[in-house]
Amino acid sequence: MGKRKLRAKPATTKRMDKLDTVFSCPFCNHGSSVECQINMKEVIGIATCRICEESFSTTITALSEAIDIYSEWIDECERVNAVEDDVEQEEEVEEEKVYEEEEEEVRKRMMKMNVCPLKGSLTTETIDLY
Ligand SMILES: [Zn+2]
Repeated sequence: MGKRKLRAKPATTKRMDKLDTVFSCPFCNHGSSVECQINMKEVIGIATCRICEESFSTTITALSEAIDIYSEWIDECERVNAVEDDVEQEEEVEEEKVYEEEEEEVRKRMMKMNVCPLKGSLTTETIDLY
C-alpha cells in the first residue's frame, strides 16, 4: 500500500526556481530534503535525501546538473514503480477500455434506435400498436 506514495506527483517547480539543487524526496515526500552532488572526477551524480536517507547515483556528463540527476532518480522510481504495479496497471487499463467499448456500444445502439424508425421497419410496428 505504501508503494503508491512513490508515484511521483506533478513536480512543484516553485521551490526549484529558488534552490535548484534541493528537491522533494520521492520516497518520504519531504519538500526539500534531496540534495544532489556532482562528482566530476568520477563522473557520477548522487542524489541523497537527508530525511529518509534514500539515495540514487547515476553517471553524468559534463553538462549534467543537479536537476538532471534528480530527474533520473524520479524516472528510476517510476520505472521501478511501473514494474511493481504492472499487473495492477494493466487491469486498470483493461477496465477503462471495456468501459469505453461498452459506452460506444450503447451509443451505437441508441443511434440505431433513433435511425430505425426513420427507415420504416420500426415505424409500421409502432403504428400497428396504436
Ligand atoms: Zn526522503
